[in-house]
Amino acid sequence: MVNYRYLGNSGLKVSEITYGNWVTHASQVDDSAAIATVHAALDAGITTFDTADAYANTEAEIVLGKALAGHRRESLEIFTKLYWPIGPKGPNDAGLSRKHIFEGINGSLKRLGTDYVDLYQAHRFDHETPLEETFQAFADIVRQGKALYIGVSEWTAEQLREGAALAKELHVPFISNQPQYSMLWRVIEEKVVPASEELGISQIVWSPMAQGVLSGKYLPGQPVPAGSRATDEKSGANFIKSFLGDDVLTAVQKLKPIADEVSLTMPQLAIAWVLQNPNVAAALVGASRPEQIASNVAASGVVLEPAVMAAIDDAVGSVAVTDASKTYEVSPKGRPGLS
Ligand code: NDP
Repeated sequence: MVNYRYLGNSGLKVSEITYGNWVTHASQVDDSAAIATVHAALDAGITTFDTADAYANTEAEIVLGKALAGHRRESLEIFTKLYWPIGPKGPNDAGLSRKHIFEGINGSLKRLGTDYVDLYQAHRFDHETPLEETFQAFADIVRQGKALYIGVSEWTAEQLREGAALAKELHVPFISNQPQYSMLWRVIEEKVVPASEELGISQIVWSPMAQGVLSGKYLPGQPVPAGSRATDEKSGANFIKSFLGDDVLTAVQKLKPIADEVSLTMPQLAIAWVLQNPNVAAALVGASRPEQIASNVAASGVVLEPAVMAAIDDAVGSVAVTDASKTYEVSPKGRPGLS
């Protein structure tokens, strides 16, 4: 089964392996495969699920809602996010304005088929809306009982500090950040993690397997495997391609003997690695089929000895991205969706 961890400085426990449905549900896989994968996650002990209104332009929330229907609500932690454009992508269909937050939460609750989400997250930092407006709106939806806790995604250390100061003033339970983090993408280590530790915020880290690359199935100089994300030209292939250079794939193959040595699969090693690093509350994994999730959850509770952590650094250190300024670059400077 899957172990639990507290999310930030709060009383909320989350399954340390959390399942997310970006680029899979209502996109790469059909609904029956999506629902079977969510059920496999539940069977394996995962209780925390992450989605976003922008995934498949709102359709992914509907699929997750269907998959979780009939399960005891109190035994689930349901997370969603807003910021990226949705629907017709008009001037107020994106960002973190009061208007979009109120409309956004109502739309997400309807699609997910629930009265509240456990965590409502700002999918990026909105440079065009005053932060006070955003946090006041978050405070109001928390008071209305529509969201129990508030989180953000890909905020810089400075943005987290500004948000935490307002959250304190307005009594908003701001407890998490959701950044990309894996053996290949380590940009949060220098600034985001120390600031979060100081502020009582945890990381829920996305793409811990670098979208499947750390499974070792993509081989240098070889065609990408049939049915994998890299073949999903309408969506996933665009996101995974930055990890498909031969230098990265060659380094990743050096992880295979390390995984063998500790009797783990490569996906399990990748997940165990993020869970062992400071300030990480959950590895937010994806899966395109049930057997992936059933196998990957065995990473929960694994302890990697210092020599194994050092061997991993030696294997992939030269290709890992560590530049802290990358976090600032991932939030658009203008509101997305507008010309
Ligand atoms: P992962 O790094 O866990 O990649 C998951 C993919 O890896 C699967 O869909 C599958 O792809 C492949 N895979 C999984 N297990 C195995 C296995 N055992 N063997 C071989 N291949 C395997 O995470 P994701 O990139 O999917 O992201 C996870 C979640 O993070 C998202 O659903 C979302 O909730 C969140 N996220 C948040 C973002 C943000 O901005 N806040 C951005 C992106 C993601 P396939 O079978 O197709 O090869």
